[in-house]
Amino acid sequence: MTKVPELFGSMVFNEQVMRERLPNDIFKALRNTIKTGKPISSDVADVVANAMKDWAIEKGATHYTHWFQPMTGVTAEKHDSFIQPAEGGAVIMNFSGKQLIKGEPDASSFPSGGLRSTFEARGYTAWDPTSYAFVKGSVLYVPTAFISYSGQVLDKKTPLLRSMDALSRAAMRVLKLFGKTPDNVTPSVGPEQEYFLIPRELYKKRPDLIITGRTLFGAKPPKGQELDDHYFGSIKTRVLRYMEDLDEELWKLGVLAKTRHNEVAPAQHELAPIYSTVNIATDHNQLTMAIMKQVAEKHDLVCLLHEKPFAGVNGSGKHNNWSISTSDGENLLEPGKDLKNNLQFMVFLAAVIKAVDEHQDLLRLSVASAGNDHRLGANEAPPAIISMFLGDEITDLLETLASGKEYSNRVGNKLSTGVESVPVIYEDTTDRNRTSPFAFTGNKFEFRSLGSALNIACPNIMINAAVADVLNTFADELEKVKAADFKKAALALIKREYIAHRRIVFNGDNYSSAWVEEAKNRGLLNLKSTPEALAYYDRAENVELFDRLKIYTDREVHARKDILLENYCKVINIEAGTMSELVLKQILPAAIEFSTVLADNIAKLNALKVDAATQTKLLAVVSELIQKAYAAAQKLTDAQAVVKNAEGLQAEADLSYAKVVSAMNELREYCDKLETVMPKALWPFPSYSDMLLYV
Ligand code: ADP
Ligand code: MG
Repeated sequence: MTKVPELFGSMVFNEQVMRERLPNDIFKALRNTIKTGKPISSDVADVVANAMKDWAIEKGATHYTHWFQPMTGVTAEKHDSFIQPAEGGAVIMNFSGKQLIKGEPDASSFPSGGLRSTFEARGYTAWDPTSYAFVKGSVLYVPTAFISYSGQVLDKKTPLLRSMDALSRAAMRVLKLFGKTPDNVTPSVGPEQEYFLIPRELYKKRPDLIITGRTLFGAKPPKGQELDDHYFGSIKTRVLRYMEDLDEELWKLGVLAKTRHNEVAPAQHELAPIYSTVNIATDHNQLTMAIMKQVAEKHDLVCLLHEKPFAGVNGSGKHNNWSISTSDGENLLEPGKDLKNNLQFMVFLAAVIKAVDEHQDLLRLSVASAGNDHRLGANEAPPAIISMFLGDEITDLLETLASGKEYSNRVGNKLSTGVESVPVIYEDTTDRNRTSPFAFTGNKFEFRSLGSALNIACPNIMINAAVADVLNTFADELEKVKAADFKKAALALIKREYIAHRRIVFNGDNYSSAWVEEAKNRGLLNLKSTPEALAYYDRAENVELFDRLKIYTDREVHARKDILLENYCKVINIEAGTMSELVLKQILPAAIEFSTVLADNIAKLNALKVDAATQTKLLAVVSELIQKAYAAAQKLTDAQAVVKNAEGLQAEADLSYAKVVSAMNELREYCDKLETVMPKALWPFPSYSDMLLYV
């Protein structure tokens, strides 16, 4: 293997390449744009485009693409070659500044939630110079934002960039009160990505996996994850070779792939990168997911990114580690060691507490999807109830502050929360709570409700927006206070806000049924399904919030809600249709064949006067399941018809959940029972054990 430092970023048009390849003044102009977000002039763009093209061609590129993240949640690309006709029937390779800056994909088929009707399919992509271009295969990828001609956002990146801006502005206002004036403040994210690997030849025999990304049938295997022997277990050779290949490919693209290990379920694994600025982390996570699938092909494996590929087996999530830091390198969520910084930390901490409590709905709906509905609340992922873990030390401190008493911490250090000072907080590493949806882990918050397939843009837009809004209200209040009274006022604010929002703090076991009750008493939301969560998207408070922060207009909020509702209905409908088809065309015919075998056998045994009691019992079981499965399949089709007649997207989604999902669950139950009594040779699909235990 080549040395990693040489390999790393070798396919990326990064700052080092820019410095080498661009004239000094152009390099400076571009770097200024990257830093400040100021637009680039067309002269500069021409030079950059040309240098980028020459570099890309050396790396094997023949095409370029504006790479963007439409509302489908996956990335989109359309390849254009660099060729341009030249004299004498020849071609030259060309890439202009205009082509770099702006593209016009025929955007009519991307979901827009009514923002752009198909007859005026006019959207354009705009280069995002803050995320480096890269070469993958024979294509130069230019990261872009996707916007309609009337200025409405059609993608996930534009609002993410807007939310970063809002957060930066708000945080700077608060920092100024502490005498700090960094250039900007940015949120950083490290997303831990879980995935499954299964053999390709088995995948090909599972139409449900191919069509829907998850198994719609499958009896629980005799050995699942109960022995806990897979988590952090030694990695099988074939998987390790895959991981090595994956790391190499990601490193070439400048993705900071850092940690790899086996996960809880058999055939489940995780990759965690080193954190980066959230828009880059988002691009890199999209890239990581794409490369995971690609590399798997090379190893005759398939990488499953669905949140719940196998029922009864742990699903896959994505932990979103989030912090905010200044351009001077100060992490604002670092408790720190001296008192002055502690007060600042406490103000930011109070802001996050308030933000999470006030915007539980937005956090919850930002992770809502048909796939993730199988995980949240299923005692393997955090519940659908949003709460925060702060650890005993910080919670004790806040509680003491709230009660006005003196604080003494558990290691015996006597620390005072007198008006003049706030005690030192030691990093709380002892009692990490793995069940909390939103956990403070020393110097960052870990939002754990995300499903593995999710584009991380949306949850981060929500966190950034919620925290920015609260910081603005804090700044509004504290800016009015005289410098001499600032500390006192800040402490009073922390105390007041903690008391108002402490119901969101829960350090106990989030998987317990007691918590569900307790959360209800505390008045916390428990939005169990995607349709229920999405209904909150366009509440007046939320529309106003996004408008105030200039992240979404009123219309854009409604459009986003509609896109997500529609997507949910489509996914459920596709799953239901696939299920019916597989039941009628494969499962029932196989079961009927088996019942014929049994009936023939019984007849023959009877003729020979041999006892056929067992076969007769088995036949009765199979026949009953055949009848039940057939009836359930009909019920499912009926449920789909009811949904079709629903009025409006919300009603359609609500009914999809209430009627179709439950009918699917019932149908599955009978089919899974059939699988357990049928001979392996007659069952049309590979079993869970086949897929999970033999990689
Ligand atoms: P685990 O949750 O498995 O204990 P770690 O604590 O090692 O994992 O961190 C997981 C992820 O958190 C990694 O992607 C890491 O880069 C990221 N991370 C660490 N520090 C920060 C930070 N300050 N801001 C955002 N992400 C961070
Ligand atoms: Mg984690």
